[in-house]
Amino acid sequence: MAESVYIGLGSNLENPVEQIKAAVVALKQIPETQYIADSGLYLSKPLLIDDVESDDQDDYYNAVALLDTRLEPLVLLDYLQAIENNQGRIREQRWAARTLDLDMLMYAQLQMNKARLILPHPGICVREFVLYPLHRLCQKMQQPDLNIPGHGTLNKIINSCSENELKYVGEIV
Ligand code: ATP
Ligand code: CA
Ligand code: CA
Repeated sequence: MAESVYIGLGSNLENPVEQIKAAVVALKQIPETQYIADSGLYLSKPLLIDDVESDDQDDYYNAVALLDTRLEPLVLLDYLQAIENNQGRIREQRWAARTLDLDMLMYAQLQMNKARLILPHPGICVREFVLYPLHRLCQKMQQPDLNIPGHGTLNKIINSCSENELKYVGEIV
């Protein structure tokens, strides 16, 4: 059976818009997987973390994509990490600037807690650059509300997350 998977895309290095576009092309080529839709592009400010020099980081481009996949979660994660690597991702510090970040936000209603894969993604409920694109994508899909396992419904969660300086900048073309 195919399962719905939401992927968070982010980039703030080496022409981020092109990085996101290339990632979408690559996501469309994952076997046993269908690219259903995405939120379009958003511009956001880097996370403010004391031990990462986020003041010096450029703004991020973000999007959320919906896939239907027959792959198991860890197999899909392998494909996502291969796409990151192909686009020159160098794993440095967490939250450091990057050419491409692909986070598996949700895999159906699955909850898991392995070192390599935590589902839903732990940042999902506190990050405006995830929640607002996810909400826009759900509206596009005419999905009334989305249950985020262990957290509640998207419509409820989004009420307690400020948009900060997040900006919608248009479709990914
Ligand atoms: P954050 O996870 O807080 O958004 P990050 O994206 O900068 O930070 P990475 O360096 O990209 O973190 O990933 C660190 C590790 O997180 C990866 O090696 C990966 O195996 C693991 N990981 C755990 N859960 C997930 C998930 N849901 N999606 C993607 N990677 C995950
Ligand atoms: Ca991330
Ligand atoms: Ca990541």
